Amino acid sequence: MKKPGRQLYIDLVIEFLNRDSRADFQEKLRTQITEALTAPRKAGLETLVSTLERAAISPSLDLEPTKGAPGDQRTVLDFGDEKFAVIRKWKRKTIEEEICTYLYAAIESGQFAFIRKCRQCPRFFASFRHDSKTCSTKCNRDYQNIDRQRTGYFRENYAQRKKLKLKMARALLRKGKARKEIIIESGLTEKMLIRAGILK
Ligand SMILES: [Zn+2]
Repeated sequence: MKKPGRQLYIDLVIEFLNRDSRADFQEKLRTQITEALTAPRKAGLETLVSTLERAAISPSLDLEPTKGAPGDQRTVLDFGDEKFAVIRKWKRKTIEEEICTYLYAAIESGQFAFIRKCRQCPRFFASFRHDSKTCSTKCNRDYQNIDRQRTGYFRENYAQRKKLKLKMARALLRKGKARKEIIIESGLTEKMLIRAGILK
């Protein structure tokens, strides 16, 4: 899909989602949009669409007499002797209805797929890349650091657990336990025990 140049519908939706307020409607949309962005997405998207249906937003049409100047990009009802520019106007009343209108347009135009939820902070953002995970360079740095710490932690934890198991296996050997018992009770494989010099 080509990148649209104008302000995107999703920018308006995202701006609303990131607002510093705790309004019920905002919380509800944050939850529903997060679900609609997380695979498998079908149920989440359908919930979102039914929220929009309940909001009962619908466009009205404005008919503006025109002479049909060249370069006019609007749809024109051309009767020959009379011409009318057809302007689709969304009825907007409350902020809820306004946001639902943008969200409707975002789904209808396919732009909705460019909304992302930051993996590091509660913000939403727009990206044309499917693999972008964070909203800013700061969040990206923090996210990478935490990821590194997490893998480091598991590696350390695994080494520690293995050490304890080997200690246990040696104790079992000293107690004169059978080969099979040592393998089962220590939770180590025969190969690991041979490599550690505990079994032959
Ligand atoms: Zn972020």
